[in-house]
Formats: sequence, C-alpha cells, structure tokens
Amino acid sequence: MCLSSPGDDHDKVAEYNYLGRMSKHLAFVSVPAYGHVNPTLPLVEELVARGHRVSYATGSELLPAVREAGATPVELPWDFDVSKIVGRGFGADGSRAAAMMTKLIESSRVCLPVLVEHFGDDRPDAVCHDGMSFVGSALADKIDVPAVALIPSFASNKHFDLRSKMRGSAGADAASAVLAEVQAALKAFAADNGLSERFAVFGQEPTAGLKVAFIPRSFQFAGETFDDTFRFIGPSLGSRAHSDEWSPPADGSPVLFISLGTVFNDRPEFFAMCVEAFGGSPWHVVMSIGAAVDPASLGAIPSNFEVGSRFPQPAVLGHARAFVSHTGMNSTMEALYQAVPLIAVPQMGEQVLNAERAEELGCGRKLDPETLTADLLRDTVSQVADDETIRANLARVSRELRACGGATEGAEAIEAYLGELTATSNTVSRPSSSSH
Ligand code: UDP
Repeated sequence: MCLSSPGDDHDKVAEYNYLGRMSKHLAFVSVPAYGHVNPTLPLVEELVARGHRVSYATGSELLPAVREAGATPVELPWDFDVSKIVGRGFGADGSRAAAMMTKLIESSRVCLPVLVEHFGDDRPDAVCHDGMSFVGSALADKIDVPAVALIPSFASNKHFDLRSKMRGSAGADAASAVLAEVQAALKAFAADNGLSERFAVFGQEPTAGLKVAFIPRSFQFAGETFDDTFRFIGPSLGSRAHSDEWSPPADGSPVLFISLGTVFNDRPEFFAMCVEAFGGSPWHVVMSIGAAVDPASLGAIPSNFEVGSRFPQPAVLGHARAFVSHTGMNSTMEALYQAVPLIAVPQMGEQVLNAERAEELGCGRKLDPETLTADLLRDTVSQVADDETIRANLARVSRELRACGGATEGAEAIEAYLGELTATSNTVSRPSSSSH
C-alpha cells in the first residue's frame, strides 16, 4: 500500500467546522461485538463534537449504539458470532480458535466488497478500524487511505505478543496451534483481494500509522517498548455513563453488579450459584445474564435481585459497591475507572491476564470459576467490598486512568496524525503508488 493523504483529494472541497478546524470524514469499521465497539463510542462522540463526520460500519446489532454516538451507521453483512462459533470457551485443542479465525476471514470476504463500494463513493480521510480483526485494515489498504488501528485489549509489538503471554492457558494453546492455518487463509484473502503483502502477516503489530489503545500504558505488558505510534488513551465512558434505563434502589442498599460480559456468558450454573450466594442478603444484586441463559433456569429469583439479559453497565457501576466480573478488558477498565472493586471469575485466557493484573494492582481478587462455591463467593465479595486498602488502591488507579486523556486524547491524536500526513504530502514528493 502507498499512503495517500487526505490532501490528495483535489476534487474535495475542504469543509471547516465551527471551530475553524478542517472537518474530516472518518470511517470506523469493527466486528459486531460490544467488547470491540463500546470502547470506541466515546471517541466517536468526541470526534463528532469536534465537527468531524463519522461513518461507522459494523453488524446490525451494534448499529443503534453507533447511531446514538453520533455516527452514520453502515450495515455490514457480518456472519460472525464468537459465542456461537466457540461455544463455552476456546478449548485446548486449537480447533475452536481455528474455526473462529477462519470464520472471521470468511466474513471479511463478504464484508470487504460492501465496504469498498460504500466508501469508494464516499471516500473517508482515514479508516479507524478494529485492530484485532482484518476487514477494516483491508479497506484502508484497498482504497489507499491512512489507517488508525483501535485496540480494545492489550496491544502487541515485536517485544510483546498476547498469544505468547497466554501460552499455557487453553485459549493460548489453541491460538498457537492454528497460527499457520490462519496465516495461510489470510494470505489467500489478501491475494484474492489485491491487498499488499504486508497486510497478510497475522499476529504482528498493526500496520496502521497510528494505533490507539483504550488502556493505560501502565496496564499494558511491556508498556515501555511501544513507540509513539501507539497512544494509550485509557478508557472513557462518554454518554454510556448515564442511562435513563436504570436507577439505584431507593432504599440505599449496596449495589452488587454481576456480569460475565457478552461472549462467554452461557453459564446458568454460575448465575444459579450467585442466586444461592446472595439471595436474601443485604446486597441489591443487579445480574446481567446475557442472551443465552433462560432466567427460568435459575429458579425463583429472590426479591433483592434484578436479573436481565443486559444492563447499562457503566451507569450501574457508577452506583456499585462491588463487581463480580469475567474481567473482559472493557469491564475491567470500566470498573477501575469508576473505582469499583473487582471479584474476578475469568472465563478465558485473556480474562485471566486482566484478573491477575487487577489483583496485582491491589484492586480486587481473582477466583477460580472451576472450584468456586457459593460460600466462597459470598465471603470474598464482602471481604473485597470492605477492604480499605483496595479502596485506596482503586482511588489511585482511577485517577491514573482518568489522567490518560481518554476520548479527548484519542481525537487529538487522530487530528494530529492526519494533520502531519497532510503537511508531509504538501512538502515531500510522494513515492510512486502501487495500484490495486
Ligand atoms: N456490557 C453492558 N451491559 C451488560 C454487559 C456488558 O453494557 O449487561 C458492556 C460492558 O460495559 C462492556 C462490554 O459490554 O463495555 C463487554 O466488554 P468486555 O470486554 O468486558 O467483555 P466481552 O463481552 O467482550 O467478553
């Protein structure tokens, strides 16, 4: 790929927003997964507030959320539901991780032409793409515009690779075992779509000129080895912090939020254990059971419980005294940002790492979901919730997270990156372009 700059669009009449900044058109592209789209929504809100135009291409389920953030939704025909593909976990033999990556590449084949057609007619100044899937960076490569990778979890570079770090957990073994297979499928996808060779290398640092990670550098493994093309902006909540759909209990009971996230959450036995542990307790329990679990399978729901397939998590956490969580990266960040102690019940390798990191920071406790009992869960929750040292650590970590700059920092980084590209293209003669 040859990098063109926004300044190359001679036909385009420059538009300026009310602050006198040049308005850009940014194409966001992501897989249809809350864990990938949610952290980007405050960034979209910030960019729109600064007068930029954002188009957001993802699967149908996420379109209302991106519209609400101020983006113009672009529906992609994704056929990619991780929980359906891998079931209750990655397993140890590699086959389910292989199935997931293969499906991701197959779906990218279907989505790429839709993206190229849409954005060919409405050319963006940059593609801001999910850094953990392929189709957004393929679009940037194909239509030859600058790319910004958005990283919803740990970033990787030549010093740190998330897969090697997870080696030993089931998910990591799986990922290692399928590397060659995924690499071959990706090469074929790149060749069939006329993408550049460097695009087709799986598992390396994203090729985008700017990488934005929604965690602080201090949470990143080997954080000091990431160069300044990586920006660790930390989490932001944006308008997700407020919701009309939930309000805390009027009697002031302490709120305990329980969630296993949106992917590896088909765990009726775990939610039944929570009912056993906290039914009739002083806690007001808000339990998000996801779409897969039938509430009827949990037996009679105690009166101190609110059970639903989904709650406005940041808004609930704003009132929570403790959070029993799978410690997906977003849930971990949202909890630390709001200084809510974590009781971690990780469901897969990456979540184990997050749980360990949260424990290391003194912000919660990690439990083993395989050996967990209702008694242990109840005791751990009350110990962690009452632990003053954990509260003090959380206050410090929350301050650090807020100081990372969040969506404002992210928007400024994108504006600066595009500004530099424009300046470079105006002063330096460009290398000859390879056509696709
Ligand atoms: N989430 C939510 N309500 C729920 C459960 C989850 O809003 O009832 C959001 C949560 O705030 C987070 C995302 O869904 O932004 C889950 O992402 P995470 O990385 O924690 O886990 P995943 O679902 O990807 O396993």
